[in-house]
Amino acid sequence: MTVKIWANSGDSHFLEPEDLWASYLPAAVAERMPRSVKDPDGVWETIYVDGASFRRKMPSTARNRWVNGKTILEMAQQAEGIRDARLRMIDLDNQGVWAEVCYPSLGLWQTLIKNRELAVAGARALNDWAYSEILSHSPRLVAVAELPLLDVPDAVQELERVAAMGFKAVFLPIEPPEGMDGYNRETWEPLWSAAEEAGMVAAFHIGTENHDLAVVRGPGARVASFCETSFGAMRVAIQMVASGALERHPGLRMLISEGGASWVPFIADRMNEVYNTEAFVSPQLARMPKEYMYEQVYTTFQHDPSAIQAMAAMGYTNILWGSDYPHVEGTYPVTQQILSELFADASEEVRYRITQGAFLELFPHVGSPPGVAAA
Ligand code: MN
Repeated sequence: MTVKIWANSGDSHFLEPEDLWASYLPAAVAERMPRSVKDPDGVWETIYVDGASFRRKMPSTARNRWVNGKTILEMAQQAEGIRDARLRMIDLDNQGVWAEVCYPSLGLWQTLIKNRELAVAGARALNDWAYSEILSHSPRLVAVAELPLLDVPDAVQELERVAAMGFKAVFLPIEPPEGMDGYNRETWEPLWSAAEEAGMVAAFHIGTENHDLAVVRGPGARVASFCETSFGAMRVAIQMVASGALERHPGLRMLISEGGASWVPFIADRMNEVYNTEAFVSPQLARMPKEYMYEQVYTTFQHDPSAIQAMAAMGYTNILWGSDYPHVEGTYPVTQQILSELFADASEEVRYRITQGAFLELFPHVGSPPGVAAA
């Protein structure tokens, strides 16, 4: 008999209802908020945001195994838990996922809005909805709040509002909205201070750049575009460490979801190398970059066996597993199978840290699943 492996997920998604904007906002504002229109063939979708639009290919999967008489792709597409918290809890229990970080779906495109007032109204509407439908439903659902990022004081104000509502994490795109300074700039200091003060995790999700990630055409393009999404994770972590933002805010913790974890030891070594050999490093930091990277940057992965080794062999312990529920890149509906394969040769300590411990450090209020004692 196999023993169920309970895991917390640092990377899961909700889908906002189609009438969300219309029910929370005046019609003229609602129609400029993000919406997705899928082609009948199910291969492409068009995203409309604030008068602009772009096309994107829907994720698909080659893992077309059959589970309960359906393919994995069909199961993922039909997972009603993406929009219904009550049904979601059933999926969580049977997949063995205890608590999860819940990112929005349409909200990931909200940072493409160009108008400041619109960004404020959209973030408030999304957060009010997430509060009533996700956060209030169960402490196991860690809803990530949206911030209006076209103006830093606006972002601080919304962060403080959602902190008072009980949110524990705010979503940040992997690159700031177009026209805004990079995250390494002083512009963002008030936001880092506010997040640190409120104990709010800065939750970045990969693939949320302003530019098209399909930078390679022709042979290998699909694999290249997929791998491009990892580089943004590295860039934002490097900038937050090298600029001194994490040093100035020792209580600030970053979560970078879906971009894998084993790049952290590699990038941290590269950063140490330039610190050790270059004369023109500015600002100087009190400690080596690798220490900030290992202490304040948390990352998630779904399938990568190398992530286990990043902890077991390279001493980087801020690793969370993530289901990416219910996306086809994720582990639903075969989470238990994937977890048992991943951790087959791992020590109890490594398995506990990656499936429970690191998550609990960020979100202790979720508690532990039945039969799992906190370490
Ligand atoms: Mn994800």
